[in-house]
Amino acid sequence: MIIPVRCFTCGKVIGHLWRTYIERVRAGEDPGKVLDELGVKRYCCRRMLLSHVNLIEEVVVYGRKV
Ligand SMILES: [Zn+2]
Repeated sequence: MIIPVRCFTCGKVIGHLWRTYIERVRAGEDPGKVLDELGVKRYCCRRMLLSHVNLIEEVVVYGRKV
């Protein structure tokens, strides 16, 4: 949906890294290398970025006003 602010497992703040991460990966860089350079070391935090699918733009059109 939208990138969680913190890692679900350890609580490290990772939300602010999403934009940098996805821009660099889309530009063709290796995701593992980008995560290393961003300082994301633990595999619990790495999976937060690696496995994230940003669907907020697809879902937001179904929101309704109450
Ligand atoms: Zn973590």
